[in-house]
Formats: sequence, C-alpha cells, structure tokens
Amino acid sequence: MEIFDAHCHYQFAEVPYAAVELARSEGVGFAVINGSSPDDWEDVARLARRDGRNLPSFGLHPWDVPTAKPGWAELLRECLLTFPEAAVGEMGLDRWVKDFNAEAQEKVFRLQLALAVELNRALTIHCVKAIGPLMELLRVAPLPARGFLLHSWNGPVELVPELSRLGAYFSFSAHHLLPRKLELRTQFTAAIPRDRILIETDAPALCPAPDYRRHELPPGPDGTESNHPANIFKTNEQLALTLGVTPEVSAELTRANFRRLFISPQK
Ligand SMILES: [Zn+2]
Repeated sequence: MEIFDAHCHYQFAEVPYAAVELARSEGVGFAVINGSSPDDWEDVARLARRDGRNLPSFGLHPWDVPTAKPGWAELLRECLLTFPEAAVGEMGLDRWVKDFNAEAQEKVFRLQLALAVELNRALTIHCVKAIGPLMELLRVAPLPARGFLLHSWNGPVELVPELSRLGAYFSFSAHHLLPRKLELRTQFTAAIPRDRILIETDAPALCPAPDYRRHELPPGPDGTESNHPANIFKTNEQLALTLGVTPEVSAELTRANFRRLFISPQK
C-alpha cells in the first residue's frame, strides 16, 4: 500500500535519512518536506534533489518570524523559481507561542500568500490559536487557485464549509489520535468533504502514543519524542476507521487529493 505524506520535516536532524529510506521501502511515496526558515531551505533543496518523491516546500514559519534575516523574501522567491514543483510553507499564524508579534506574523503571512498566488503554488498553513485572524486574512485576499492545506486541522467545525469553498484541504495527523481530540477526529467523517482530506506525519513532530507507532526514533535534544516517517501507516489505519473504509481506500483517497493539490498541472 502506498501513502503520500502531506506534511513533514525530513530535513530536521531528528530524522536520519535511513528512517526515510525505511519508510519508503514500506510504501511511503511522495512527501512534502516543509522548510521553516531560510536556515533550512538548502537542506530541503538537497532532499528534493536526492529523491523526486521529496517534494520541496519553502516557507517562513511563524515561530521563525522574529529571527528571519533581511532578504529572506527574495531568497524565498529564488527557491520557488528554482523548484517549479515546490509549494509555499510552512507558514501561518500562531498566537500560542511565547512573545508572538501578531502584526509581524500577519505581514509575513500576506507576503507568502501573495507569492503562492502569483506563482500558483500550493500553500501550507500552520494555525494555532489564531483562527479568527486567519479567516480575516483568507476572506479578503486572493488565494492560490489550486488550493491550500490547513495542516493538522484543529477546528472549529463551523468554519469547514466556508474554508472548503475557499479551497482548503485538511490533514489528519497523530494529533487526532489523542483521546481528548475525538471531536476533531469525527469532523473528518461528519464535516470535511472527502475530496479535501489529506494525511500527514509532521515528522519528527507530533509523535503518537506507542500503540500508534510502527518504528521508533531517538528523542530530540530536548527529550521530545520523535515521530518516525513510517508511523503514517498507523495513522492511516485510524483515519480509515474514522471514515469507515479500509486502509487501502483511505490511502487511495488521500493520494488522489494529494495529487490534485500538490502535483497536478497548474490551472
Ligand atoms: Zn510542520
């Protein structure tokens, strides 16, 4: 069974390339490798050159906004022009992180959104405790014609229809396997259109509970558990259960949706 990972960070040191190769030998196909700041874009580019299934994505993550060096926006455009298959992201809004500067985050958001529209690239959005401001931005700005991903979707359900009309895709992750997130999980059956569902690991982030792991990776330097890229098969089993289909069917569904958003020829 082949699965496409809509959001991950194989460029981080916590993911040794041997783990990626093991995941590939087990059936992981395309994976969108999300850069988070100019400091890791070269590593993302290297992974893209190494294997065509490593789809590059270049973006400035809201956590990295305060330290982004001058000229990052020009460099971002350069990276996107060098890799015509590349997406924009990870970018977004985060009002949970310590000492966030909402104004600076929104300025950087608008700039990256405009770039994705201009170059017609898929866009990957991180949104934590900022859904109101995100909706305000999305309602007034031109959006990428091919759509955008709200990675590791975290609600609220009332906004799903409007977001879908705006072109949103929603990814299912290990976050939805937490017992306290049952409500979010059921949204994938009850509210999110089937043609907008994707699946992701966010590896090495979002390490699931031991029952939902296929392989282990050593923890990161701060002791955080690392999520192995092949754990996506366990997450897919849970997505399949949620949707009431077989794992083969949910893998096929998310592959088709992945192709439409990240690979299909530009409209
Ligand atoms: Zn991420």
